Amino acid sequence: MSDTFYITTPIYYVNDVPHIGHAYTTVAADTLARYNRLKGRQVFFLTGTDEHGEKVQKSAAKLGLQPRELADRVVTRFQGLTPALEITNDDFIRTSEPRHYAAVSKLFEISLANGDIYLGAYEGWYCTPCESFWTELQLLDGGLCPDCKRPAEKRSEPSYFFRLSKYQDRLLAYYKANPKFIRPEARRNEIVSFVEGGLNDLSISRTSLSWGIPVPGDPAHVIYVWYDALTNYLTGLGYPDANPAQVDTFWPADIHLVGKDIIKFHCVYWPAFLMSAGIAPPKGVFAHGWWTVEGQKMSKSLGNVVDPYEMVEAYGADAFRYFLLREVPFGKDGDFSKKSMVHRINADLSNAFGNLLNRTLGMLGKNFGGVVQAPAPEGDLDAALAAKAASVVSSVDAHMNELEFSRALESIWELVDAANKYIDTTEPWKLAKDPAMKGRLGTVLYNALEAARICVLLTSPVIPAAAQKMWAALGCDTPVAGTTLAASGAWGGLEAGVTLEKSAIAFPRIEEEPA
Ligand SMILES: [Zn+2]
Repeated sequence: MSDTFYITTPIYYVNDVPHIGHAYTTVAADTLARYNRLKGRQVFFLTGTDEHGEKVQKSAAKLGLQPRELADRVVTRFQGLTPALEITNDDFIRTSEPRHYAAVSKLFEISLANGDIYLGAYEGWYCTPCESFWTELQLLDGGLCPDCKRPAEKRSEPSYFFRLSKYQDRLLAYYKANPKFIRPEARRNEIVSFVEGGLNDLSISRTSLSWGIPVPGDPAHVIYVWYDALTNYLTGLGYPDANPAQVDTFWPADIHLVGKDIIKFHCVYWPAFLMSAGIAPPKGVFAHGWWTVEGQKMSKSLGNVVDPYEMVEAYGADAFRYFLLREVPFGKDGDFSKKSMVHRINADLSNAFGNLLNRTLGMLGKNFGGVVQAPAPEGDLDAALAAKAASVVSSVDAHMNELEFSRALESIWELVDAANKYIDTTEPWKLAKDPAMKGRLGTVLYNALEAARICVLLTSPVIPAAAQKMWAALGCDTPVAGTTLAASGAWGGLEAGVTLEKSAIAFPRIEEEPA
């Protein structure tokens, strides 16, 4: 196992405001970052914003602002996701920052010097009022601009190109040698057939645009979209000169998390840009699916865009995070509805998990003044519960390594259910009535709490705030985010002799609307 882990979200375009899709990627990345810290790895987690380009330039002009002023305003909505959703990113990269100009310029200069970047001409359909190039496919019937619906004209402008065509064989060889580079599998097959179909060189500069990074030595051009945006993953670590030691430690990235619409750029363009510059490609790209809302496509015109800030306000960050990762297998599309979210919060978190801890603490308080009893040598039921805990720890690990969040959570809830069943079978409320069974009662409550402790540890990457509350209620002094599976994951970690509170409500029940 490598002892470092570098994970990224895509950089979010500032011409938008955060919605459920942004929250989803960021929460998934955060959960992986937290889980890998729990495994004792040194983690670097990067997120940020993509701030250049035509849309930002135009939106700013409409508002009478400089593009940078607009970006400065909108970026706070994305930066605010960090506290709102309990995100633990190590840095936040903005592509308008000087450090990013340095990284993109450096990469560009290397490929210009070795001949992989050359000056050519870009040909497309140009709309003069909109100052936009369109491809033939983007035009409306009759050759009209899709934005303003006026006729576009064929036009050519000088452009720098990246020699992508040269990298077809090397890319295919890289996919073959690294079967897990593109996940899920279906996406991998799409990319392989796309590359097998042949690659065209890629236009990577524009003279019709001013809001961007100037081409080194030819400032009439700015660098266009993906060459600029993708390089953020190197900038964030400190490439080229800001922190070369950190680049050495964490590059190549372990996982770029992306939406399925941008997988081609990450799996074809990005590794080719890097190969040209003599830098190793990332180890993995994982594409997740889309959310519909109450069965409908999410759109501004339908007014059904899910605002993550509203969700956190209404249900709390933990519940929203849990729902996103539990509801849909990662990589597949899913449907968001408040009703199913509330149902999951009540059934899984409040009833099954919250109640396990709460009712056990209640019985400990009533019968032992809240003092955790040292367990007596275990019987069969006790041993079975301990064995279940150990098997869940290892199956969670297997699922997390494959980004199977929903299956990891299902595994944890097998332990939650096993612990609740253990209580129902051992009937501690009956043991409490017989003074001769006091020792057995202490052991039963210890085992139930110990199972709960393991569940808290394993869920902490997904529901960090509630997990910390429950962890503290179990008398654990080191914050759950500061411990490791190696230090705290084995059965028997609960300390005997400590005094615990009589209850810990981590998940208040939510009123369900009548069907
Ligand atoms: Zn137009």
